[in-house]
Amino acid sequence: MTPEEFRRAGYAVVDWITDYWATLPQRPVTSQDPPGTVAAALPAGPPVRGEPVEAVLADLDKLVAPGLTHWQHPGFFGYFPANTSGPSVLGDLVSAGLGVQGMLWATGPACTELETVLLDWLADLLGLPARFRSAGRGGGVIQDSASSATLVATLVALHRAAGGRWRQAGVDRRYRVYASTEAHSSVEKAARIAGLGAEGVRLIEVDPATRAMSPAALRAAIEADRAAGVVPALVVATVGTTSTTAVDPLPEIGPICAEHGVFLHVDAAYAGAAAVCPELRFGHAGLEYADSYCFDPHKWLLTGFDCDAFWVADAGELVEALTVLPEYLRNAATESGAVIDYRDWQVPLGRRFRALKLWFVLRWYGVEGLREHIRGGVALAAGFADRVRADERFELVADHPYALVCFRLRGPDGPNERLLAAVNATGRIYLTHTRVAGRHTLRLAVGAPQTTRAQVDEAWQLISHTAASLSPPPPR
Ligand code: PLP
Repeated sequence: MTPEEFRRAGYAVVDWITDYWATLPQRPVTSQDPPGTVAAALPAGPPVRGEPVEAVLADLDKLVAPGLTHWQHPGFFGYFPANTSGPSVLGDLVSAGLGVQGMLWATGPACTELETVLLDWLADLLGLPARFRSAGRGGGVIQDSASSATLVATLVALHRAAGGRWRQAGVDRRYRVYASTEAHSSVEKAARIAGLGAEGVRLIEVDPATRAMSPAALRAAIEADRAAGVVPALVVATVGTTSTTAVDPLPEIGPICAEHGVFLHVDAAYAGAAAVCPELRFGHAGLEYADSYCFDPHKWLLTGFDCDAFWVADAGELVEALTVLPEYLRNAATESGAVIDYRDWQVPLGRRFRALKLWFVLRWYGVEGLREHIRGGVALAAGFADRVRADERFELVADHPYALVCFRLRGPDGPNERLLAAVNATGRIYLTHTRVAGRHTLRLAVGAPQTTRAQVDEAWQLISHTAASLSPPPPR
């Protein structure tokens, strides 16, 4: 591809994305095709001769787009959002064009330094404790996902719990990780990858009303483990759980971790973004106890997947746990000790220039623009919750401190399952479900950038009318 061919094709691709976004409201949110449809429509192998980009774009329209779940659709209310935005796409495009691999400071000084500065900006923006800033012993790094952040926190916690021997001795004792029964599955996966086995994680009961971790149960579990010769290594507290956005009580959990010398990681994958608004920082009370913290700008902060912001209070400990320095990576800057080599802050060696999309987003929207996006989602969700509350057929299953509403039809699970299937089958909106205290519960998460009050109202009308028209279950 010559530079001029790239320029022309690039404009065509940007036009295609622009048209895709503009036509999202007219598309069904989820694919209506059965499994195997896309695969069956693709040729058996690549073309023998190269084709123009126009041919690929035509197939994007014909084969790929109809087979997608459209996460940016204004009627997408499933899971948590995975925002993207114009500035994010453009920043990612520049990153792809630069093709920089920033494993070491020396392999991309600006890649490293922009990331360090942006993570300090973000720490300020979220009101994080000073200990996470790079000016002290702490600092931030971009991981691909909150799952990776939890894995890295697990490895550092093991290193600390082993008195610094873990990198030599590995898992030489019985170590334990604690998280609530509502914590994300990535906690168990990280423990498994770290070699702790099925016994490595102890899930702590939650308060039945708030779904937040019980500090008394955590304390009891840690004390029982210590008495039995198991070493408590890590507590993962969640700010905004996946099922219901419950907030674990850091002001009580933190002192327990401090008393027992247990590493505290705070997973705010979804809800952390809300802290750009000062009035939505309540989940961060007690964060000064945390050894590490993460949230996903790729969820609710207009930055395309993948971008997880992860901070540690002691970067030296992190680097000590993870660094391996082969001869071929040695260089003067690293030897000087004056630079950050982010390869030591993550599992893989190589890394993309992810800070660019975040930089584009922060500069395009500014602090006020980001706050507007978050506040808009919170207000729309509150409006939806009001509709649920006012309809006696329904009940709210949990508080909605952010932009997720958990609700259900009163009574048994069956009608709720059928309601979810029926509204999703319309293709106009997309909701997901969870189980809260064993009961099938519908989740409506507001946050796609194009979602307005009109779509949330339409979602309620659809849910309400569908509930009214649900046929009774067939006789057994
Ligand atoms: N932690 C929490 C609380 C989550 O809700 C999620 C995903 O929804 C994750 C972790 C995993 O996020 P990621 O896909 O960035 O690994």
